[in-house]
Amino acid sequence: MKLHHYAAALVAISTVGIASTAVQAAEEVNIYSYRQPFLIKPFLDEFTKRTGITVNVVFAKKGMAKRIQSEGKNTKADGILTADIARLKAHADAGLLQPVKSAVLEKNIPAHLRDPGNQWFGLTKRARLIAISKDRVKAGSIKSYEDLADPKLKGKICTRKGSHVYMRALVASMVAAHGEAKAEKWARGVVANLARKPQGNDRAQVKAVNQGVCDVAVINNYYYGKMKFNKKKKEQQEWAKSVRLVFPNQADRGTHVNISAAAVTKYAKNRDNMVKLLEFLSGDFAQAMYAEQNYEYPANPNVPTDKEVASWGKFKEDRVSLKKIADLSPTAQKIVDRVGW
Ligand code: FE
Repeated sequence: MKLHHYAAALVAISTVGIASTAVQAAEEVNIYSYRQPFLIKPFLDEFTKRTGITVNVVFAKKGMAKRIQSEGKNTKADGILTADIARLKAHADAGLLQPVKSAVLEKNIPAHLRDPGNQWFGLTKRARLIAISKDRVKAGSIKSYEDLADPKLKGKICTRKGSHVYMRALVASMVAAHGEAKAEKWARGVVANLARKPQGNDRAQVKAVNQGVCDVAVINNYYYGKMKFNKKKKEQQEWAKSVRLVFPNQADRGTHVNISAAAVTKYAKNRDNMVKLLEFLSGDFAQAMYAEQNYEYPANPNVPTDKEVASWGKFKEDRVSLKKIADLSPTAQKIVDRVGW
């Protein structure tokens, strides 16, 4: 298939779903996904079982928006599954998505987690947390993102690069809360407190705390679970053990959250099936399973959080619209560039 020659980063790992001979060539839906097979296969199979619609998935590591763009009207993608508002924004800005009016989605997904123009819908939430050394930082001494700029933390903080989408969204949330000038002052303060040049991914920051390089890290909540229960790389269990999680800003606006999300492409051939899939993904069955697989939080407020994840702490989330975070991301990037994060 021509598709597969397109880009090395895009690999069709598997075709998910049931193609029984009886319903062959019947209903189908084709999605491009940044979300990994292990996360989504269980509930996509259930969707097929319930609806008879076969789901074909092309998994991608990068380059999805570019690919859909160059495929134009001939794209096979009826929809996309992706994580992070920045990637959604890239698709929306390029005009690759179409609006979906659905009472089910409006009921299941809170307004701040979906596009006001109905072009994308958040399915799971991830919280950006502060992880502090159990040994070297007093519990309760850091309560907010604002605290990270306190000069008393000089030389004690580790983060990944400020230009990474997770950090950029956090900076955007600071702009939303305080305005550009104050957010920049804050970012400058955090950079002044860094123990080392920003490097590595979220988990690498917790490793650095474990190794005494710094005392405070910033991570997405699900990495804590991925480390705590890592059977292949047991050392990561030790990294997780060395930190305590802080849900920032509980006394005011709440903890910054980002989303994984889904959308219907502009030239979807199986649009109605994709909408059915979106609605299914926003419902009880898929929500619980999707969130639990990756230690995330269901976007649907009526679906309970997985027990393990819930045990890390109940928290209030910043309910600023993710659309606003997306809109502020260029401003956030400029701040990151100016302060050298
Ligand atoms: Fe991640």
